[in-house]
Amino acid sequence: MQLNRHPAGRHFLQIPGPGPVPDRILRAISLPTIDHRGPEFGALGLKVLDGIRQIFQTRHPVVIYPASGTGAWEAALVNTLSPGDAVLMVETGHFATLWKKMAERLGLAPEFLGLPGTEGWRRGVDADSIGQRLRADSGHRIQAVCVVHNETSTGVTSDIAAVRRAIDAAKHPALLMVDTISGLASADYRHDEWGVDVGIGGSQKGLMLPPGISFNALSPKALEASRSAALPKSFWAWDEMVESNRSGYWPYTPNTNLLYGLSESLDMLLAEGLPNVLARHRRWGEGVRAAVRAWGLEIQCAEPACYSPVLTGVVMPDGVDADRVRRIIHERFDLSLGTGLGKLKGRMFRIGHLGDSNDLTLLATLAGCEMGLKLAGVTLAGSGVQAAMDFFASREQADADVKVES
Ligand code: PLP
Repeated sequence: MQLNRHPAGRHFLQIPGPGPVPDRILRAISLPTIDHRGPEFGALGLKVLDGIRQIFQTRHPVVIYPASGTGAWEAALVNTLSPGDAVLMVETGHFATLWKKMAERLGLAPEFLGLPGTEGWRRGVDADSIGQRLRADSGHRIQAVCVVHNETSTGVTSDIAAVRRAIDAAKHPALLMVDTISGLASADYRHDEWGVDVGIGGSQKGLMLPPGISFNALSPKALEASRSAALPKSFWAWDEMVESNRSGYWPYTPNTNLLYGLSESLDMLLAEGLPNVLARHRRWGEGVRAAVRAWGLEIQCAEPACYSPVLTGVVMPDGVDADRVRRIIHERFDLSLGTGLGKLKGRMFRIGHLGDSNDLTLLATLAGCEMGLKLAGVTLAGSGVQAAMDFFASREQADADVKVES
């Protein structure tokens, strides 16, 4: 490992989060740390708590933890559930699998809905099968349905509104918990409109921040459940957090400098307008997929309706080790791509197209991929870079923009 290596030019960090942090945010984070119990801090706290509610599209409390996304996963479970509770989870990929393992370790009884092999790792959540399972649970043993909105290991985005409809149609009282760690601020997520009870987010994806803060967006029903939930909790407990947050403070030392960064990120995203932010992600996803198709390679997501606007999984032909291709690309072109995770190790790599990016950054990323694939001996059907250039040149940003009312 060459930690002191400083190649000329800038590194291309094209994993699906963390991505490049904009200079504006880096500068904000570098400001002097202030007293987290002093008067200035309260104003910052109130500002970021209000802004993050707009990003989650909720009127209800959002809790901000000085922790990575995994912490916010745990917070969602321990605040709402009791030992031995049944929870229905769906095997969409590696992150859904990790969340289910966490539920087991916490003493919950997760049931994992899935398809054989890696079939479920290519598709969105099947809301009908959730509805069916809930209808069969006439005694209402299942306390929560937990789904991953944007499965970062596969590049598949699930229809959360459909899951809500399925729960309602089954007349089942289970809570709906949604991991939108890699969806927030890059894929459409509407906490209140979709009736999500706990939404889980992270800083290092669409918010363009370094890793280190994460979120729980709550519903009144989730807050109600937290009053009787018996799993042990202290650091993660919502009650003290929500209480302190009312005046813009935290019950313990918050991640002050990352909150400066969050404040800057919120200013940037809200000035651009969330609909525009989402439109540029959708457009980038289309451009990258045009490249993968032109190469003649397979996209990991098998359902076009579920293509992720955040990342694309590129499946390697049989006999090609995706990690060897990634290694060549990293060594030759200083470009980092996401590795295949869990069941997809070595089978595919992931191109992140989120956050602080633009058409030319993505074209350079695709050029690095195309050259690396050729160097690795992969036969390509055509030029993906050309296909993406054609796509980006023919589709102006304005085509994808949704005008924001001023
Ligand atoms: N869930 C999803 C969908 C993720 O993409 C990640 C991380 O990439 C996590 C959970 C875990 O978050 P963290 O690695 O920040 O703890």
